[in-house]
Amino acid sequence: MAEGRGKELVEKYYEKVRDHLRKLGLWKPIEERLGAEAVVDAVRELLNAMKRVGMSPEMFEWERAFEKLAEAPSVRDFVKKVLEALRRPPPPPPKLLPPVPETCPIDGTRLAKVDQVPIPSPDGTIKPVSVPATIEIYKCEYGHLFERDLTTGILIERTSAYLAQKLYKEWVREERAVRGS
Ligand SMILES: [Zn+2]
Repeated sequence: MAEGRGKELVEKYYEKVRDHLRKLGLWKPIEERLGAEAVVDAVRELLNAMKRVGMSPEMFEWERAFEKLAEAPSVRDFVKKVLEALRRPPPPPPKLLPPVPETCPIDGTRLAKVDQVPIPSPDGTIKPVSVPATIEIYKCEYGHLFERDLTTGILIERTSAYLAQKLYKEWVREERAVRGS
């Protein structure tokens, strides 16, 4: 019987949240302010909403969600907020890049981020070329150059000839983007 099963589920999750809130000392104020019956209604409404979207109630964090009931102005408001959160897709996990090492892995001298890289010109001179914002370059005290891979965060050693080409290409690409061609 669907009716009986639904009632059982409401009771099961109502007791689960009530026991949890009791443990936290939150149940008494909630019961006095909103009434136990309103909490039962909230559980029922959420179960119905989950059934509609095909979500298993086991997947829902009942205890954590109902802790917010302590600050909710009303049960109606609480249910509305939970339903909104259920409809929203979960945010993507933040992208964590490993920290940049402080020293050069080759000689142990201090690594610093640079905004210009000395690059040999065809006429034999060395000219500083600015690093575009889309690229991160680090240099040690002995002049080893590293590019930070902005997807994985790791440092890759680069020759100035490689960087010369890369920076040139990047500047051309940015200029094109600015001109819109
Ligand atoms: Zn070095």
